[in-house]
Amino acid sequence: MKCNLKAMSGAREAQGRQAAAVINASPTGRSHQEIVRVLIVGAGPVGLVMAHELARYGVECRVIDKQRDRPMTSRAVAILPRTIEVFDLMRLADDFLGAGRQIHAINIFSDGERIARIGLDRLDSPYPFALALPQDETERLLEEHVVRHGVMVERNTELMALDQNDERVAARVRIDGSQMDEIRCGYLIGCDGGHSTVRRLLGMPFRGGSYK
Ligand SMILES: Cc1cc2nc3c(=O)[nH]c(=O)nc-3n(C[C@H](O)[C@H](O)[C@H](O)COP(=O)(O)OP(=O)(O)OC[C@H]3O[C@@H](n4cnc5c(N)ncnc54)[C@H](O)[C@@H]3O)c2cc1C
Repeated sequence: MKCNLKAMSGAREAQGRQAAAVINASPTGRSHQEIVRVLIVGAGPVGLVMAHELARYGVECRVIDKQRDRPMTSRAVAILPRTIEVFDLMRLADDFLGAGRQIHAINIFSDGERIARIGLDRLDSPYPFALALPQDETERLLEEHVVRHGVMVERNTELMALDQNDERVAARVRIDGSQMDEIRCGYLIGCDGGHSTVRRLLGMPFRGGSYK
């Protein structure tokens, strides 16, 4: 699973602009005057890792996702050694090791006969194996840790438009499919996947190809 940020848009940090008096209350229950330091768009693995690390280092953030519920489908089936090393740096490796199953070799069979064996034991890593863990479990574990750091994923909240100046980014979001609201932030981080709205709104090209 790749853990790279897809797009990042920053407006200069609005220092000291914490919540003013609560006026003009919004559907999110927050004031329109309030400027959150970082807004993360997308609560897939990349957004959750981002939220975890920001929260762990004391950076205030909010996470929104357009889906009503966390996905229940597997998608990525295994975690590779370098990702486990990153989880170790995040102090999460033990939880993942406890939840997954270690794969030390890959055997390839043809007509009932083993024709190849690829051993993983000699990989140059403290974790010389692949860890079988469905992606929905990976996301569940990450979200649990994000919540432990005091950040709730705000679901059913879709980024529709954004506007930025030197002071802040203003994100127009649609909540529960109908209510519109605005979230103001110092930085907005797009972790919204392959068909990123953030990238589209910023007019950034997608360099790369699709598997046919
Ligand atoms: C069928 C399938 C099988 C796969 N198998 C593997 C595999 O074996 N190994 C592997 O490494 N990878 C696999 N992948 C790829 C892996 O799932 C992705 O690399 C991974 O999910 C990317 O994580 P992400 O956080 O960048 O994006 P995503 O997981 O796509 O998360 C993006 C999140 O952003 C939210 N979002 C999008 N737009 C908005 C918006 N406008 N407003 C608010 N929220 C928004 C979405 O709801 C979503 O929750 C597979 C993918 C699929 C579809």
